[in-house]
Amino acid sequence: MEDMKKIEMKTQDAPVRNHNFEEVSLGYTKKEAMDEASRCLQCKVPKCVEGCPVNIKIPEFIAALKEDNILEAYRIISESSSLSAICGRVCPQERQCEARCIRGIKGDSIAIGSLERYVSDEAFKNGYESLPKVSKINKTVAIVGSGPAGLACAYDLAKEGFDVTIYEVLHKAGGVLTYGIPEFRLPKEIVSAQIEKLEKLGVSIKTNIPIGNAITLNELQEEYDAVFIGTGAGLPRFMGIPGEDASGVFSANEILSRINLMGSFKKDAKTPIKHAKVAYVIGGGNVAMDAVRSLKRLGIDAHIMYRRSEEELPARQMEVIHAKEEEIEFHFLENPVKILVDEENNVIGMEVVDMELVEEEAGGRRGVREIKHSNHEVSCDMVVMALGTGPNHEALKESDIILTEKKLIQVENGKTSLDNVYAGGDVVTGSATVILAMEAGKKAALEIIRRYTGKYQSDK
Ligand SMILES: Cc1cc2nc3c(=O)[nH]c(=O)nc-3n(C[C@H](O)[C@H](O)[C@H](O)COP(=O)(O)OP(=O)(O)OC[C@H]3O[C@@H](n4cnc5c(N)ncnc54)[C@H](O)[C@@H]3O)c2cc1C
Repeated sequence: MEDMKKIEMKTQDAPVRNHNFEEVSLGYTKKEAMDEASRCLQCKVPKCVEGCPVNIKIPEFIAALKEDNILEAYRIISESSSLSAICGRVCPQERQCEARCIRGIKGDSIAIGSLERYVSDEAFKNGYESLPKVSKINKTVAIVGSGPAGLACAYDLAKEGFDVTIYEVLHKAGGVLTYGIPEFRLPKEIVSAQIEKLEKLGVSIKTNIPIGNAITLNELQEEYDAVFIGTGAGLPRFMGIPGEDASGVFSANEILSRINLMGSFKKDAKTPIKHAKVAYVIGGGNVAMDAVRSLKRLGIDAHIMYRRSEEELPARQMEVIHAKEEEIEFHFLENPVKILVDEENNVIGMEVVDMELVEEEAGGRRGVREIKHSNHEVSCDMVVMALGTGPNHEALKESDIILTEKKLIQVENGKTSLDNVYAGGDVVTGSATVILAMEAGKKAALEIIRRYTGKYQSDK
C-alpha cells in the first residue's frame, strides 16, 4: 500500500515562509530520494519520456540514482536538458511526464520533478559539471535573448562546436527565470549556476545590449552564420479601464522585476516598492500567484481577484494551495470596472462587478459575463494587473520578418521567413512554459546544426 503514495517534499511552514523570500520547498533528503526512486517501475516502454518535451531518459536516470550514482544520473539528464535544476522546480510535471507515469493509474505518479531537482542539486553541491568535450567548427551563431529558449539553443549549439554569443538587453541573463519567477520558488543562485555552466562550455553572454537599437537584426545576420531570436513575451497587458494610470497601479511584471532584479523587498533598496496596505492582484495564472505571494511577503494584505470561478484558475494547483496556505484571500467571479483615485491620483479602491459563468468558449473554457447592477466598491491602495503578456518586437526593427495574425514570429521547424534567422519560445507561441521554450530552442539548434554540419539528417 505504501508504494501507492509518493514521498511529499517538505516545505517551510506557511506562517513562517509568508514573511520571507527563501525557498518554499526544501528538497528531498537522500533517504527520501532513494525511497521515491525505488517506486519507479522501470517500464520497458516509458510513457514518462514521451510526456517530457525534451525527452529526458527518465527511467535511466532514476535507475542510476537508485544505485546512488549521482554523477551518472546527472550525466543522463544533462544529455537532454541544460537547465535541470530549474525544470525540477518549475516545470508543470503533473501535466507532462508525471501525467503519463503508469504508477499514477492506481496511486501517485513517481515524483519525477522532485527527483530531477534532487539529482541536479546534489551534482552542483559536489561540483559535477558533466560538460561534453567540444571540437570547434568555425561557425558562429548570435542568440537574441537569454531566457530558457536562448539558453537551451546555446547549449546544444556550443556542444556541437559552434561559437555562440548571447545578446541580452537586461543587466542579468536568464529571462523570466531571473526577473520573473520569485526567489521563493526558484533561487537565483540556481539560475546563475546553470548559466555559469553554459559559459564554461564557451558561450559568451553580452548583457545590456538591446538588439534593434544598439545592433540591428540585419547587422547580426551579416556578421553571424545564423541568428536565433528568443526575446520572449514580456510586454504586459492592461484592462483599459478608467483610473488605470493612477499611482499604485502596476503590472505584475514590474512588481516581480523590481523585487527580483533590484531587491526592492530589502529595507535599504534604492527602488523600494511603495508600502501599500491592501493590494489586489487581478488575474488567476502563475504570474498572478507569484505577484500576490511576493506582496504578502512584503507585509501587504494581499488579495487575488479572478473573473471566473476557482475551477477555471489557470495557475498550477500547487501554487494555488501554497498561496491559500500563506493566507492570500481569493475573490472569484468578480472583476474591476474602474480604479478609484483620490485628488492626487493615488489608488483608493476599485469599483467591481460580479460575474457569472456561461457556456464553454472555443478553447473549452467556460465563458463569463457581468451580472447587471452588481457594482460595488472595495478599498485598496495598490492594484496589480496579471492579465497575460505579449511580445515586444524591438529586436525586429528595420527587418521585414513575417509575423502571424497574433503578431508572433512565424516559424516552420524553428526557421523564420528570413534566411539564416531562427526563433522560438514565447516570442513564437505567446506566453507558455520554461520547458516548451527550451524545446523550441533545441529544435532551432538542431536545424542550425543540420544546415551547417550535415549531421543528424537521418532523424528528419
Ligand atoms: C512571473 C512568471 C512566472 C512563471 N512561472 C512559470 C513556471 O512556474 N513554470 C513554467 O514552466 N513557466 C513559467 N513561466 C513562463 C516561462 O517563464 C516562460 O514561458 C519562459 O521563460 C519563456 O522563455 P523565453 O526564452 O521564450 O523568454 P523569456 O524568458 O521571456 O526571455 C526572453 C529574454 O529576451 C530578452 N530580450 C527581449 N528583447 C530583447 C532585445 N531587443 N535585445 C536583447 N534581449 C532582449 C529579455 O530581456 C529576456 O531576458 C512564468 C512566467 C512568468 C512571467
